[in-house]
Amino acid sequence: RHVPADLKQLQASMQPLHEKGYLPLERFCHAVTLLMNNTQLPENGKGLLVALRPVPELQPQQALTLCKMRRYGDLVTLIDDRLYLFLSSCRFNDLDIALKYIFRLPHDEIFTNRMIWYQDLQILSEVRQIKGLIPTDWHDVTPESEAGEVIEKNHKMPVSRRVPEPITLGNVTREVSR
Ligand code: C2E
Ligand code: C2E
Repeated sequence: RHVPADLKQLQASMQPLHEKGYLPLERFCHAVTLLMNNTQLPENGKGLLVALRPVPELQPQQALTLCKMRRYGDLVTLIDDRLYLFLSSCRFNDLDIALKYIFRLPHDEIFTNRMIWYQDLQILSEVRQIKGLIPTDWHDVTPESEAGEVIEKNHKMPVSRRVPEPITLGNVTREVSR
């Protein structure tokens, strides 16, 4: 039977993300932003963004190998010395349960501290901030091909703001167009 286009669109928008596990920074930010902007999902109940810093004995890459995601929409990326996880539809009070499933090892043996964002606006704002970061030791923490992709994409995006220059009104003889 013929399904109207807007119904198809609605069905598609209500499906969870078709991705899970590790994504390079750009794709991670893109996926989380898409999800946050999906009005079909509950306000402030779309999931949790969590930053985890491994214990000093563990490299971030090693912590990443312990991260086994099961649920579609559960995503992880690496930024400097931290893992960022997005846990789809996970409730704030269920974070420990989800982490126990995902890492299998006791959480405090792997991570020293964590930060959690759970409201839509908080998550969007954090994602905007991490998107603007180009970690200095990026190629140390990601496979080479992915690092190349991320750095290339970041180069296309202006990351620094233009600094305003003072002008004196009435004294301007030529306007500089930008
Ligand atoms: P999914 O959400 O992508 O989850 C994939 C698999 O991860 C599940 O396979 C299950 O083994 C595990 N998993 C994910 N979330 C949880 C959880 O909160 N608790 C536990 N104990 N295991 C979890 P499974 O069970 O064969 O389910 C396949 C798919 O069916 C799921 O894919 C999901 O789309 C759907 N599903 C199954 N049960 C539920 C449910 O209670 N609620 C919702 N919303 N969807 C469910
Ligand atoms: P549970 O397995 O004890 O999980 C309790 C809650 O922990 C889940 O509530 C969810 O908020 C969080 N959680 C657990 N595992 C994961 C995970 O792998 N990823 C994420 N993002 N969150 C996780 P929720 O979703 O309301 O599920 C309630 C209960 O329903 C679960 O208790 C489990 O017994 C069952 N369930 C949910 N989804 C699935 C599924 O896909 N497969 C199976 N077999 N059971 C499921």
